[in-house]
Formats: sequence, C-alpha cells, structure tokens
Amino acid sequence: MSNPLLDTAGLPHFSAIAPEHVKPAISQLLDEGRALVERLLAGNTNFTWENLVAPLEEMDDRISRAWSPVSHMNAVLNTDALRNAYNECLPLLSEYGTELGQHEGLYQAYRQIAIGQEYQRLDTAQKKVIDNALRDFRLSGIDLDAPSRSRFKEIMQELSRLVSKYSDNVLDATNAWHRQITSEQQLAGLPESARALARQTAQQRNMDGWVLTLEFPSYYPVMAYADDRELRKELYTAYVTRASELGPTAGLYDNGATMEKIMSLRHEAARLLGYDNFAERSLATKMAESTDQVIGFLEDLARRSKPAAQQELEDLRTFAREQGHDDLQAWDIPYYSERLRQQKYAISQEELKPWFPGPQVLGGLFATVGRLYGLQIEAVDGIDTWHKDVTFHRIRDASGRVRGEFFLDLYARPHKRGGAWMDDCTTRRVAAGSVQTPVAYLICNFSPPIGNEPALFTHEEVITLFHEFGHGLHHMLTQIDYAGVSGINGVAWDAVELPSQFMENWCWERDALDLISGHYKSGEKIPAELYERMQHARNFQSAMQMLRQLEFALFDFRLHRDYDPNRGARIRSTLEQVRKEIAVVQPPDFNRFENSFTHVFGGGYAAGYYSYKWAEVLSADAFSAFEESGIFNRETGERFLRSILEQGGSREPMELFVEFRGREPTIDALLRHSGLAA
Ligand SMILES: [Zn+2]
Repeated sequence: MSNPLLDTAGLPHFSAIAPEHVKPAISQLLDEGRALVERLLAGNTNFTWENLVAPLEEMDDRISRAWSPVSHMNAVLNTDALRNAYNECLPLLSEYGTELGQHEGLYQAYRQIAIGQEYQRLDTAQKKVIDNALRDFRLSGIDLDAPSRSRFKEIMQELSRLVSKYSDNVLDATNAWHRQITSEQQLAGLPESARALARQTAQQRNMDGWVLTLEFPSYYPVMAYADDRELRKELYTAYVTRASELGPTAGLYDNGATMEKIMSLRHEAARLLGYDNFAERSLATKMAESTDQVIGFLEDLARRSKPAAQQELEDLRTFAREQGHDDLQAWDIPYYSERLRQQKYAISQEELKPWFPGPQVLGGLFATVGRLYGLQIEAVDGIDTWHKDVTFHRIRDASGRVRGEFFLDLYARPHKRGGAWMDDCTTRRVAAGSVQTPVAYLICNFSPPIGNEPALFTHEEVITLFHEFGHGLHHMLTQIDYAGVSGINGVAWDAVELPSQFMENWCWERDALDLISGHYKSGEKIPAELYERMQHARNFQSAMQMLRQLEFALFDFRLHRDYDPNRGARIRSTLEQVRKEIAVVQPPDFNRFENSFTHVFGGGYAAGYYSYKWAEVLSADAFSAFEESGIFNRETGERFLRSILEQGGSREPMELFVEFRGREPTIDALLRHSGLAA
C-alpha cells in the first residue's frame, strides 16, 4: 500500500488521505531528511550552493508538501482522528526543526559558504537564503551551551503542542454551543438571509425550528439585528466566554492555564537567545526596528484616533437614548450601531447582499486583477479536493504562462476553523531547470448559499475575499526561484499584510464595483445613489474600529514585552490596563476575549499583531499611487507586480517599497483613508 502523502509530485490526493497516513509519512520524511544532512556533510570540505543548499531545499520542499495538506485538512475538516494524528506530528516536526537549527556541522557548512568566494557570485535571492539561514541558526540556539540547547529544544516542542491545543479548544468551544429557536417571534429584526441560514442549520441537524451557532455568519447577524435583547446577550455571552472558565461551556475547554504556560515558555526561549523578552525576539525577523518604535507607532495612532472615537461613541449613546435605552451594554453596541448607520446613511450590510452574488464577485475579482496585472484566471474541473464546495483555479499571465493555481473554500461549516486565511500548498521554486508552480489555499467562512439561490456576500465579505486574494497573489505571482524566499516565504511578518490590505481598496472604487457587483436577480450594477451612500458610510465608526485594532495590538505587544517571571503573564490585568488607556468601549467583566485570540496564542502573530496597522501604512500609501495614476493604471500595476508581488522575501520590504513608490512610506494616506487626517 502506498502512502498518498509520500507522493508529492502533483497536487495533494485529498480524497485518499487518511489519518493513519500522517505519522508514518512524516516520520519517514524526517528520517530521510536527517540521513540526507549527514550524507551531504560527510567527507565534504568545500560546501557550495549546489552540493548543500539545493538538496536541502529539495528535502524541505518534500516535507512541506506532505505536511501542508495535513495541517490544512486539520483546519478545514477537523475530526478527532485527524487532530490526533496532526498533534502527534507536531513534536516530531519541532524536534527536527530545532535539531537542524542546532546542528553544528550544518551551521559551519553554511558559514563556509557565507564567507567563501562563491557567495559573491550568488544572486540577491540566494544571498538572502544564506543570510536568513545563519540568522535562523542563531534563533534556534546554535550559540548556546549543551544544556541550554536541549532546554531550548524542549521549549519549542512544548510550545508547538500548546499552541495547537489552544486552537483546538477554541474550535471545540465554538462547536459545543448552539441555540434552538422554536418561535419565529424570537428572531424579530433578523434579516431573511440570517433566518434562512438558521433554518438550514436546523434541518441539517434534524431539529425543528431554527438553530443559531457561534460561527460568524450565524453569530454576527444576531448581534447586529436581533430585536430580542436577551437573545443578543445570550449569544454574546457564549461567544466572548469561549474556551474560558466562564459562560455556557465554562471550564470544558478553558485556555487559561495554556496561555500562562505559552507566555512563560516564550519568555524563557527569548531569554535563552539573549533577548530581554519575547517582543524583542519577535522583532528579530521583522521590519520594525525596536520595541519602542512599535509601541510609539501604536500609541501615536491611538492618540490621533481617540477624540474621534469618543465622539462616535457619544453619538451612539445619544441615538440609543433617543430610542429609550440609557444603559448601552456590549451586546447592544452592534445593534444600535447598525440602526444608527441605517438612520444616518440608510444603508446596511444586509441591503448590499443582493448586489454581491458569489459568482459575480469572483468574476469581478478576477477581472480586477486581470486589468491590473494582465492575468487570466480560469476554473479547472476534475481536481481532487477536500469538500464538494471547493473549487480550483489557474492563473495565466499575458503570455499564457501558468503562474499559479489555487483552491477556493468559501463557506462556513462545522468543524472548520473560523476566519479567513491564505496558506501555501506548493511553493514556487526551480529545480532541475523546471518551475514548480505555486499553489495556494484560499479559505473564508462566508454565509453559504441558501436553497437554490447563489451565495450572497456582504460588502465586508467581499473585502475579506479581496484581502485573502492579495495574500494569494503574493504567494502565486512570485518570480523568485528559491523556496526559502519565494512568495510569502521569508517576508518580514509586519510587511506581509501589504499586498492583502492593498487589494481591499478596490472594493470601494466605482469602476471596480462595476466589475464585482450585479444584482442576483436583475444583473444590475450598484446604482449611483446606493454607491454614494456606501461612500458616506465608509468611515462610520472607523475611529472606534481603529482603536479596537490598536487595543489588540498593544495588548499583544505589551504582554510579550512586559512578561515578568516573578509575576507571571498578568494577561487580564495587561488587557485591562490597555483598555483603560485607549479603549472607549469597556466590555463587561466576564468578557474573555483573550481566551480565543487565536492570532496570538494559536498562530503566528505573537508580538506581531501590530503588523496589520504597520503594513496598512504601506498598503494605504501604495494604493495612493493608484489614486494618483488611475486605479486600473496598467503601468502602475506592472510596477507593483515587479517591485512587490514578484519579489517575495528576496529583499528588505523597505527597499522594495521605495523601489515601487520612489520614496519611503508616510502615514498620510492611512489617516486620510480612515477619515482621521488633520
Ligand atoms: Zn491578512
């Protein structure tokens, strides 16, 4: 019997992959990797790109091509068996990573290349691969004495386990709760689409009436539209206490102790490497230069936003008071905000949905990038995927050359992690003269189609799709030949959100909306007066939103910077302190937001959540070049493609930005787009 995970020649064989394949395949590949390293080092005294780096890249690529579908399916099709298999491999992969990172012989071989004659002849991307490798040896503890090295390795293994456990708890807590509704009266205020989804959910579970869940397309409409205050409070409470010691699943999936442990291990690892704290360690691979610079940046934005946010909240309070509600609670804010938006601009996300049927939006997205970069995107049938809703697409450039391919999985469903993301399935590299086509996973959690109608997206969902597609283009359009720095690989994390947030801008442009929108019944484009109302409403409560993002970013960064072994992580008190300083809305005491903050405790954004705002300075400023030259200006598009999208992590982000924009970034465009310009 052959193991489908070991056949890494083409696309993953999703339908053939079973949990029992996982550990044997990964173990075998890691053993092969170890053997390869020893073989490459044995007897060699003259290390070169060809006899060391290239074969190691080939091996890494095989491992990631086997692991990618596993971690992907664990995220979108989670089962107990797959989860166990996945979790069993985490310590193996972590051990392997640290082992190679601490391999003295391997380190010396890289050093020999770095100081040798050949280095001068390598191209920019190759040099960067070598430089990054030396940096990563250091970050894996190569300089440490033996006991510290082995402690470091232990920490890395334990961290990978805890981070996975954190995410599992959030997913389980989300799945564990639902609310059956038997009287339609209770759904008063809820738009038809949300009722239909609740009805469909009930039918899928063989239940009567309607079923509400904590998946976002179910949760959010209740918060924004349900007239029943108690129902809103009930869902809010269930949502914000997920994976905590409170709420309807209190203690069952509690992440409290896991977070403490993660914080303490991160700090210990950072100290071992010679950093004062994990925030400093985090910046070792980022564009930002110091922790003070990051804090200063965030606090400056908070200062600029706060007066406007206070005014926005005051407007909301006044509005609620006029409706007879004096006591504005957290579960009232989205509801009254939505009604205020209606009153001020006569617009709602719900009203926009009929204009954004799924197929039209996708076609419009493809047409937009077609015009910007001269690309053509076609659907490809007959590809093996993990779910019937998943589609597969191929990108060609103007010369007809295939540049990349992607899987698209748009809709929310049980046992799929929430949120939206892009991940790589296959990375571009050139081996034996042939190009390996980059392949991406593009994952969203949008409202699924109801009955026989097409899926209808909110404008916010359209923006999310453009965002993830921006990441996808970064991954797929790269022209770098070495996997370590091609696509999003090796890109400083605080610059990674540049291509994604950049793409969002087109969702607000009339000419682009004509491509993206078309009423699902009449095909009519968004009418001029509706477009005008959208524009007016664009910065509705934007200062409050800005402060929320800054609150998350400051909380994350200070938490990691200020860790004190004698006092522990102080997670709640740090969050409370940040809120006291910058937030205008204080959530209730039982809010356990931090217990489901997967970006930071279950993913790669630790001491890096600030990256969104940091990169937004870059993305807003980059887009302003299109505001100046025309949003479909082919020449500007070509320049963005060549200077940013194609370059991957081969050069420093600041250098690439300056090449595109002709100068360093300024904060002006971000402030202007957010309605905060002085
Ligand atoms: Zn993103």
